[in-house]
Amino acid sequence: MSLTRDTFCSFCGTAYETPLKYPRTCTGCKTQVWANPIPVSVVLVPVIGDGRTGLLVVRRAIEPRKDKLALVGGFLEEHETWAEGGAREIREETGVVVDPTKLTAFWFTSTAPRPNRVLLFSVAEPLDASKLGPYVKNTETSERGLVFGPDGLDDVFAFPLHAEAARRFFAERGLTGEHAYVQA
Ligand SMILES: [Zn+2]
Repeated sequence: MSLTRDTFCSFCGTAYETPLKYPRTCTGCKTQVWANPIPVSVVLVPVIGDGRTGLLVVRRAIEPRKDKLALVGGFLEEHETWAEGGAREIREETGVVVDPTKLTAFWFTSTAPRPNRVLLFSVAEPLDASKLGPYVKNTETSERGLVFGPDGLDDVFAFPLHAEAARRFFAERGLTGEHAYVQA
């Protein structure tokens, strides 16, 4: 059984009329609900090791695109700024501590097929690879690693827009060529 959000009015419990679309007006209490945009905070963490700059990534342990690589990010909790939510996701998924006050806005873009899901990419302060700290596998990630370089990222990344953000990051720094991946 697949559950659809906002099938019933959350004020009076009346079922919305089908076909379900937004905004929905309850036939019982006349309350309207809208499909509010969903921001997703995604953080690019530059990591410097062996004199080169990579980006912190995780290998996904969950669907969709299980076993592919992704930048780290997620939905914001009610009390969080985009920066605080991004730093929390980095900590939860990789064990790496980044300072949310040092995140700088990098790029934002809508997703397809849901354009009101908006990715907010930011860049953290560069971190030395020796400062990554310990990593423990968790329910969402099976591996922590670094990607170096832009080419071929679409083959290894779970999400095209994450690959695009990484390519923009490397392009700004004049880093070119085939990507490399190392566990970290
Ligand atoms: Zn209602």
